[in-house]
Amino acid sequence: MARPDRPVMLVTGGSRGIGAATSVMAARRGYDLAIGFVSDHDAANRVVAACLAAGARAHPVRCDVADEQAVVRMFDETVDRLGAVTAFVNNAGILHRAARLDEMDVARLQEVVAVNVVGALVAAREAVRRMSTRHGGPGGAIVNVSSAASYLGSPNEFIDYAATKGALDSMTIGLAKEVAGEGIRVNAVRPGLIHTDIHESSGIENRVEKLAVNVPMRRGGHADEVAETILWLASDAASYVTGTLVNCSGGR
Ligand code: NAP
Repeated sequence: MARPDRPVMLVTGGSRGIGAATSVMAARRGYDLAIGFVSDHDAANRVVAACLAAGARAHPVRCDVADEQAVVRMFDETVDRLGAVTAFVNNAGILHRAARLDEMDVARLQEVVAVNVVGALVAAREAVRRMSTRHGGPGGAIVNVSSAASYLGSPNEFIDYAATKGALDSMTIGLAKEVAGEGIRVNAVRPGLIHTDIHESSGIENRVEKLAVNVPMRRGGHADEVAETILWLASDAASYVTGTLVNCSGGR
């Protein structure tokens, strides 16, 4: 069960990139962790080991967020092992090869929407069902990991991906208002170009370095810089902040 001194955080896609950085930083700041992953069990185990080394309790949880039942099981398993979840980081997301919209097939569009939109909505739903005071829960904070793509639009690369992040921004605003009176804050972070593996899916070599010249700060960001923003939004330090979209993008 939950230890009163250590709140429980669940991070989807916690095994690599921004989710991994958030998990390890959260462990160092006093949270117990459930680390979601879908295929890379070794990476999840490495993050779990780093969280354990920081004195946290931590468990890997396999869950493809596009699978509704897997999402329900992920929350149930986390509550069984660690206790009530009061911080949920809705982070899992994918993108495909850079292309124009007139080159994209429907299978691609359906997959990116299934993971980035339907998956995020179902996961947020499960978080609300467990956190909301209306359902007898303790309240909590949801942080959605959106993207600067939602306001840039990502022409010639991933309009599909950008559109899913626009949907996540709308969900953040609406859900925040829906549950503000039930002890839950809902916010989003919108990272810019961050050094993680996700860019490999684009097929563009060194994508972050190539595009960094267009970033006002003239560099890509680091996963830890996004993790700091996520952890602030999840924390009581942001107790009067809800429905907010925080850019973490070097001014881009
Ligand atoms: P990443 O390094 O590619 O890591 C992705 C993580 O998500 C991995 O843990 C992966 O698990 C997991 N994942 C992938 N598909 C999943 C699915 N269907 N269900 C559950 N988990 C899944 O990505 P990242 O760059 O850290 O991105 C994290 C979030 O930040 C995403 O929502 C992304 O859109 C957003 N973002 C990233 C950037 C950037 O520049 N990096 C910028 C803006 C927004 P496995 O390891 O098991 O595959």
